[in-house]
Amino acid sequence: MQLALKVDVCTFAGMQQGVPALMQTFGELGIHASFFVTCGPDHSGRAIRRVFRRGFFEKMRRTNAVGTYGWKTLLYGTLLPGPHVARRCAALLRELVSRGHEVAMHGYDHVYWHDKLAQLPPDEVAAEVQRAKAAFCAAVGSAPQAFGAPGWQCSAASFASEDSLGLQYHSDTRGFAPYRPEMDGRRFTTIEIPTTMPTLDETYGRVGTSDAELVRFYDAQLNLGLNVYTAHAEMDGRGQLSWLKAWLQSVQKQASIVRLIDVATELGDVPYARVVPGPIAGRAGTVAWQEAGRG
Ligand SMILES: [Zn+2]
Repeated sequence: MQLALKVDVCTFAGMQQGVPALMQTFGELGIHASFFVTCGPDHSGRAIRRVFRRGFFEKMRRTNAVGTYGWKTLLYGTLLPGPHVARRCAALLRELVSRGHEVAMHGYDHVYWHDKLAQLPPDEVAAEVQRAKAAFCAAVGSAPQAFGAPGWQCSAASFASEDSLGLQYHSDTRGFAPYRPEMDGRRFTTIEIPTTMPTLDETYGRVGTSDAELVRFYDAQLNLGLNVYTAHAEMDGRGQLSWLKAWLQSVQKQASIVRLIDVATELGDVPYARVVPGPIAGRAGTVAWQEAGRG
């Protein structure tokens, strides 16, 4: 049994506060993870647009969004200018690499991708992906090998743009096992390693709130073979770090914990699977799913 550990860094606060704490915890446990970092400006305040979508208030309340992100983060891109995450935190990104962690792209403008991708023309999607790559190269000093779509939002244009980067793999969707994506009747070449487990913001308050309840729930979700868990630096790296540490200690007794790039380099050929939008418990809107039965 394997657990591939992905950490999404979606905001400047997650980078500044969550990542150092996670780096220390992973060091104590002797494990390495894959950090997917938003490379451009943090425009979290604009996410307030999502207020009009069903489920937003319920999620804000259940996960204590103000406590998790802080008011300042909720104003970036509206009343406050959005800080550029990769540029402002280049030293921290390089430290992650020097400690053996994988660093990859989590889009350029997280909120823009999350809210607009479905309506964007292919050239604008390609430009956004190129902006992420340029910011990543400037901050990290090497070419990125992976991309993780913000909010698990995908389109045929986003898969095509990612293919053009010649990546080792991407981790854009939710699903069951690695595959190559097929969408809108088109097939794409880059291997997709989907997140297989629910995220903490989807389960917190629904399956319990104590460390013990959450550890029991997540242990029960582990399957034989490959499991992929996505932590969020903003949540798992700050208020819920004691839970994450307790769970990873439990996982270490039953499985090996690896980076996604380690999984990607050991994969043989994988089948095609269609990517379809679908709802997910505990999250507003839809996410891109590996279609059941095809993967
Ligand atoms: Zn994200």
